[in-house]
Amino acid sequence: MKRFPVIAIDGPAGAGKTTVAKLLAERLGITYINTGAMYRAVALVYKRKNGDPVKIAQEIAIRFRGERIFLGNEDVTNLLYTPEMSMLSSTLSAIPGVRRALVPKQREMANYSPVVMEGRDIGTVVFPDADVKFFLTASVEERAKRRKAQFNDPRPLEEIKREISERDEQDSTRENSPLKPAEDAIIVDTTGVPLEQVVEILLREIEKKKLKFN
Ligand code: C5P
Repeated sequence: MKRFPVIAIDGPAGAGKTTVAKLLAERLGITYINTGAMYRAVALVYKRKNGDPVKIAQEIAIRFRGERIFLGNEDVTNLLYTPEMSMLSSTLSAIPGVRRALVPKQREMANYSPVVMEGRDIGTVVFPDADVKFFLTASVEERAKRRKAQFNDPRPLEEIKREISERDEQDSTRENSPLKPAEDAIIVDTTGVPLEQVVEILLREIEKKKLKFN
């Protein structure tokens, strides 16, 4: 069965993936899926219950409603985007069983409509046959600045830079599904480029593929 088109957006923390992926999905009129939120949700439940992370990942019922993320009926969006959850999700995401539980859920989400899917391993593992693959990068300085602005983070820039570098190192060096561009990914350095302009660059690349979204 032919599946719907999948646009993969991978890259390190703070490269602009979320903003760009959301805008892109809006422009194309298709569904946006943030896989990082799923790893963050596992981290939140783990912090609360301290159970087996693999079991938590298998049983997690996460729902996306517009901009908000729900666990059951609870809106957990604000709880997921803290420095603690960033590091804990990165640590738990290195556990093979956690990834084995979440990847099929991510694949299933693309069964119903075309998607823009954002993460670390979308073009390499989740959808190695994605229709278009982007890998967004930017300097650590720029990524830390974006994080600070996006989350109104009161911490000094140097501390945010340290956290981002540590998380990237952890995500890039893990044995299972490390953060790296797929061989056929289009690499876009977003340093100094306004994110609206990045969206235009991606749209031009997508147009070349003549995909049908409906
Ligand atoms: O994208 P976000 O920063 O919200 O992701 C949080 C963490 O989840 C990342 O640092 C990474 O360790 C993990 N992640 C992953 N694979 C994905 C998406 C996120 O390992 N596809």
